[in-house]
Amino acid sequence: MKRVAVLGATGSIGGSALDVIARHPEQFQATVLTAHRNVEALVALCVAHRPRLAVIADPALEPELARRLAAAGLRIDSAAGPAAIIEAAAGSLCDTVVAAIVGAAGLESALAAAHAGKCLLLANKEAIVMAGPLLLEAVRAGGGALIPLDSEHNAIFQCLPRDWPRNAGADPRRPHSGVRKLILTASGGPFRGWSRAQLEKVTPDQACAHPNWVMGRKISVDSATLMNKGLELIEAHHLFEMPVDALDVVVHPQSLVHSFVEYVDGSVLAQLGRPDMRTAIACALAWPERIESGVPPLDLATSAALTFEPPDRGVFRCLDLAVAALRAGGDHPAILNAANEVAVAAFLAGTLSFLEIADVVQAVLEELPGRAVVDVPALYERDATARAAARRFVRHAC
Ligand code: NAD
Ligand code: MG
Repeated sequence: MKRVAVLGATGSIGGSALDVIARHPEQFQATVLTAHRNVEALVALCVAHRPRLAVIADPALEPELARRLAAAGLRIDSAAGPAAIIEAAAGSLCDTVVAAIVGAAGLESALAAAHAGKCLLLANKEAIVMAGPLLLEAVRAGGGALIPLDSEHNAIFQCLPRDWPRNAGADPRRPHSGVRKLILTASGGPFRGWSRAQLEKVTPDQACAHPNWVMGRKISVDSATLMNKGLELIEAHHLFEMPVDALDVVVHPQSLVHSFVEYVDGSVLAQLGRPDMRTAIACALAWPERIESGVPPLDLATSAALTFEPPDRGVFRCLDLAVAALRAGGDHPAILNAANEVAVAAFLAGTLSFLEIADVVQAVLEELPGRAVVDVPALYERDATARAAARRFVRHAC
């Protein structure tokens, strides 16, 4: 029986993870559930999944959580605050952690799970973008494992030779044998094919109306700007220890091919499936076994034709901003991520236009010189500095 902590249980990935877990009660038990501020949704999940511990990130909501759990007749421990989430991620109630908090807020709990030797199922791409080397070092030091949930990286993980997951025994300098290139697929988002002029007045609801995936609002905007693919490129660089020149992106509007691995002999392996995160989650939860995920089979004979095209890097500038940050190295990716989180939040709040998201990210990257990533406190300091700079540029933009 695997005991699973679902961090970010009330989110899109959290819900998909709990769906898969509930299909296999003999194999998995959700022992810890966490959420940001939505006590009602967290308690509803506790009613359905009966964890041992429920944690709410906002400390002010602790009494309400305890009261509602009691009112629902549940004898479940409760806790509150970011430190309680970190403690739960590293604690004895779980051996597997689904890291599905959105943004930099999920970094410390992912690191804590890695240090504690948990099997870390990572959806929270911002954590690895900010702190790739630190997170991978924590996995090695903790002796656990990391399996990516992001569909592209999970696809690559499935197509790579079986020297994965990288674990305590893995030599970080050993390249994957025979792999020439990793090619990430991108849906292109809701604005694929649009011009800059057409994008000038798009609204948050338009940006969040993803053609293929149902996701949280932050990642939906990232998908629309192609920043999501940029973050994923950085994620792939760290996870698979591949140089930036061996990473590529191709737009595939049907979202049925989730990524490719190209080998030196000319073979190209792909993983296909419906655009439903439960496939990647089931794969990661049960690895190396295979379990039913609730995702209907892919019927290739009746599915749309599979098409591929290059991304429009001129209109969707965030992709190349991310590549440039990765090339610059050090804490540039963390600066990129922080600026993007602020810009996306401003766009969702209606105080920044869609096209200005890239402007803000670029301005912050140009203002702050890159530094080596030394430790987590230094990273948080840079994250805060980048956020302050981004807020200034956001105010300036309006
Ligand atoms: P979401 O907005 O639906 O859910 C986010 C979850 O994080 C919620 O449970 C929320 O309560 C929690 N949370 C938010 N801020 C928090 C904070 N400060 N402290 C503690 N908890 C907090 O997001 P999502 O779409 O489920 O995405 C989650 C992560 O997974 C993101 O990093 C995203 O990039 C990644 N991801 C998502 C998908 C997808 O299909 N949704 C696919 C690949 C990767
Ligand atoms: Mg993805």
